[in-house]
Amino acid sequence: MEAKRSIVWFKTDLRISDNETLVKAIQESDEIIPVYIFDEEDFKETVFGTKKIGNIRLNFLLESLTDLQQQLKALGSTLIVLKGNTTDLMSELIKKYNVSKIYCKQEVSYEEKERLAKVEVVAWKLFCTVETFSTSTLFHASDLPFPLKNIPEVFTDFRKKVEKESNVRPISEVPKEIKSPVLPKFELPNFSDFDLNPIEIDARTAFPFKGGETHALNRLNDYLFETNNIQNYKETRNGLVGESYSSKLSTWLTMGCISPKTIYHTIKKYEKEVCSNESTYWLIFELLWRDYFRFMMKKHHQRYFQQFGIKSENIPLHPHNTEVFEKWKNGETGNDFVDANMIELKKTGFMSNRGRQNVASFLHHDLQSDWRYGAAYFEEQLIDYDVCSNWGNWAYLAGVGNDPRGNRKFDTEKQSKQYDPNQTYRKLWLTN
Ligand SMILES: Cc1cc2nc3c(=O)[nH]c(=O)nc-3n(C[C@H](O)[C@H](O)[C@H](O)COP(=O)(O)OP(=O)(O)OC[C@H]3O[C@@H](n4cnc5c(N)ncnc54)[C@H](O)[C@@H]3O)c2cc1C
Repeated sequence: MEAKRSIVWFKTDLRISDNETLVKAIQESDEIIPVYIFDEEDFKETVFGTKKIGNIRLNFLLESLTDLQQQLKALGSTLIVLKGNTTDLMSELIKKYNVSKIYCKQEVSYEEKERLAKVEVVAWKLFCTVETFSTSTLFHASDLPFPLKNIPEVFTDFRKKVEKESNVRPISEVPKEIKSPVLPKFELPNFSDFDLNPIEIDARTAFPFKGGETHALNRLNDYLFETNNIQNYKETRNGLVGESYSSKLSTWLTMGCISPKTIYHTIKKYEKEVCSNESTYWLIFELLWRDYFRFMMKKHHQRYFQQFGIKSENIPLHPHNTEVFEKWKNGETGNDFVDANMIELKKTGFMSNRGRQNVASFLHHDLQSDWRYGAAYFEEQLIDYDVCSNWGNWAYLAGVGNDPRGNRKFDTEKQSKQYDPNQTYRKLWLTN
C-alpha cells in the first residue's frame, strides 16, 4: 500500500514544541513534507505605498526558518522553502509527492483566510483535504465561554469572563521523530530575491535577539528563571531603554516560534517554584490582550482595515497628509519624544508599548493624518508585526476600535516627563 503523505504547511507557527498541527500530522500520516512558502503577494507594495515586510523582519524570519530547519533535521526531516504563488506551489507539491492531506494553522485575518481558502479549493480538486488547527492563542477559540459573535467588545469584560470560566489547555507533546520521503536540500532565499537590502541593526536596540524557537525558549528562561526580571514586570513594563523592561517575547510569538501556552505554563511553573506576585500575573494579563485582538479580528473581519474601523458614525477622521506623514515616519516632527521613538523603530524594528501608544496617538490626534498609513508603516517596519495586534491597537488609539473611552489622546509632553524624566531615552536616539 502507498504511504499516506501529508504536508505540514508552516506559516506563523515556526516551532516544534506545542505545535498541535505537527503532532496531529505525524500521528495520522506515514510521511510528512514540511513546507514554508514566501508568497509573492507579500512582497508587493500596499495601497498605502508601504511594504508588507521590511528587511528587519525578513532577517528575523530567515533566522527563524533556519532554526526550524535545524529542529526538523534533528528529528529526521527537512524544511522545503519555496517562493512564489502559494496556490500554484501547493498544487505542484500535492501532485509531486502524492499528498492526501495538508495540515496547517487556522487563520483569522482577511488576506490569510483568503489564501487558505484558495489552497483548499485547489487541494480538493486533487483529492487532498486540508485541516486547520487553532494554535496561536492562549485560550482555544472553542473553550471561550461565549460564541465568537457574542465576544464582549470591552477588553475588561472579555478578560474577566475568560479568566473565570475558561482554562488554558496543556502543552502538546514534542515529536520524537518525523518520517519524510526524500526531500530537496534546505535552501533559503536571499534579501536580493525580495529586492531588500541586508540589515545592519543599530547596537542601541532594545531587541538584540535572534529569530527561532531555540532563542525564544532561551529568552523565556532568561526573563524568568535566570534574571527573575518577571518579578518586577508590572513596574518596569512601561520602560523605554534596554532589553529588561519587558519580556520582548512579541516577536517570537508573532512568528509562532513560541506558543502563548508555553509562556503561560512556564510562568505557572515559576510561580510555583520561585515567586508568584502581581507582576507574574501581569504578563499573562498582557497575553490576554493579544488573544482579545485576535478574537476581535475574527469577529469584525476586515473592518479593522477601514478608516472608521468597527464604528460607523460621528467619528472624526483625517485625510492622509503625505508631508506630515513622511516627517512622522522619519522622526522629524519636532516633538522630541515622538521623534526618538520613530528613529528607534526605523533603525531597529522595535519600539516599546509606551512609545507605540504615543506615536500612534500623535499621528492621529496631533498631526491629524489618516491613522491607517501609520499602521501600514508599522506593518513594514515592526519586527513583531502581527496583523491582529497591530491593526487592533491602531484602531483602538484612533478611537475607531474597542476603546470604551473613545478618542483617547496621549499628551506626549506629559508622557515624556513621566516615562523619560532624565531624557535618557531621547538622548539615546536623538544623538548619533
Ligand atoms: C499602535 C500599536 C501597535 C502595536 N503593534 C503590535 C504588533 O504588530 N505586534 C505585537 O505583537 N504587538 C503590538 N502592539 C502591542 C505591544 O506594543 C507589543 O506587543 C509589545 O510592546 C511587545 O513587547 P514585549 O513583548 O516586550 O511586551 P510585554 O510587555 O512583555 O508583553 C508580553 C506580551 O503580551 C502581548 N501584549 C502586550 N501588550 C499588548 C497589546 N497592547 N496588544 C496586544 N498584545 C499585547 C504581546 O504578545 C507581548 O509580547 C502594538 C501596540 C500599539 C499601541
